[in-house]
Amino acid sequence: MHVQVGIVGAGPAGLLLGHLLHLKGIDSVILESRNREYVIDRVRAGVLEQFTVDLMTHVGLGTRVHREGMRHDSLYLSFAGGRHYVPLAELTGGRAIYVYGQNEVVKDLVEARIATGRPLHYEVRNVSVLNIDSTRPSIRYTANGDQEELTCDFIAGCDGFHGICRPALGNLVTFYDKTYPFGWLGILAEAAPSSEALVYTYHERGFALFSMRSQRITRLYFQVPPEEDINQWPDDAIWQEMLTRMSTQDGWRPNVGCILNKNVTAMRSFVTEPMCAGRLYLAGDAAHIVPPTGAKGLNLAASDVLHLARALACFYGSGSTHLLEQYSETALKRVWRSQRFSWWMTQTLHRFPDGNPFDHKRQLTDLDYITSSTAALTSLAENYVGLPMELAF
Ligand SMILES: Cc1cc2nc3c(=O)[nH]c(=O)nc-3n(C[C@H](O)[C@H](O)[C@H](O)COP(=O)(O)OP(=O)(O)OC[C@H]3O[C@@H](n4cnc5c(N)ncnc54)[C@H](O)[C@@H]3O)c2cc1C
Repeated sequence: MHVQVGIVGAGPAGLLLGHLLHLKGIDSVILESRNREYVIDRVRAGVLEQFTVDLMTHVGLGTRVHREGMRHDSLYLSFAGGRHYVPLAELTGGRAIYVYGQNEVVKDLVEARIATGRPLHYEVRNVSVLNIDSTRPSIRYTANGDQEELTCDFIAGCDGFHGICRPALGNLVTFYDKTYPFGWLGILAEAAPSSEALVYTYHERGFALFSMRSQRITRLYFQVPPEEDINQWPDDAIWQEMLTRMSTQDGWRPNVGCILNKNVTAMRSFVTEPMCAGRLYLAGDAAHIVPPTGAKGLNLAASDVLHLARALACFYGSGSTHLLEQYSETALKRVWRSQRFSWWMTQTLHRFPDGNPFDHKRQLTDLDYITSSTAALTSLAENYVGLPMELAF
């Protein structure tokens, strides 16, 4: 079987790429190793940049995010016991972020894919990519016990950080990597959000984040050692730590409720450069990872696939490969800006195990400066809502 674009992975990157290509009349097959419920139910991102919502709207996927997503025009930075208001929209000419779970984004994308009638195969096994240096690369996999081979014009590696596509680039690429000496313990709790905006906290016991998923579900995190065993954290102890770090002198604190889900996520920054070799193009977490402090991962997956769809549409429309040749360089500009911002948020708001009292004072001074300078707050706001990007493709 032959297809124009073979897509490995049905996370946000793979599904959105499939949709953009469909709109340009380009056929694709999407292959996913997990089952559909697993991919939808995974609890991950929750914050969408203005650009991502604009893109979803532009390509006909915006109905539910506008109806059910929560637009946030502001956030709080909390330190030394006080909450400081950051008017995101006011500082960025009306741009905002939207709280809309990755689960919901994936549901919208799966529904759109099914409506196109184009192939989306779950639970494929033993996936490998072959002949990426030729004009007929292929994807080999097993489905229902049968070995299959799909030849393609191009392969899009959208298979996340642990996928098989990045290793297939071999030694043709360079990896830039940074691991952090902490992770996040995250919970979903059945509790109405007690703040209308997200609250990023720097506390002497470490970072904490108040967030939400809906009018009745709160999403909360705090910093722990990277290898922390979640089983060592009974629910009462989690709430005690959350309340210790997050409660502020004005009496604000998160509402407590039944914990529905809890886990620990390690944190790293990682970039593959270039994001392609031969006819294999990486997008999303397959190519890069950001620490979640900046809420950029899913948004970068969206910007990567917009660049890639534009380049493939140009190729199929005019035969020109110039945008494909520029794909990596173009995508990496935004990737590195998001890396810088995510790193900056992370090192400003977390306690490092080797940090000393000087570092603590410096971080408090940094936060005091940011919250008292319109120039510094504007820089934070424009990065947090995300830089504008041309939507046409
Ligand atoms: C705790 C946490 C909080 C986060 N918060 C935010 C946030 O607020 N905002 C934000 O923008 N981002 C956030 N992120 C990051 C975001 O979740 C990811 O960046 C996003 O999932 C990337 O999408 P993707 O499609 O590139 O990769 P993935 O979502 O990882 O999808 C890859 C898919 O490929 C499949 N796959 C893997 N190997 C194979 C194979 N061999 N064959 C076929 N299929 C394969 C996988 O099963 C998966 O479905 C967060 C992440 C975490 C962990």
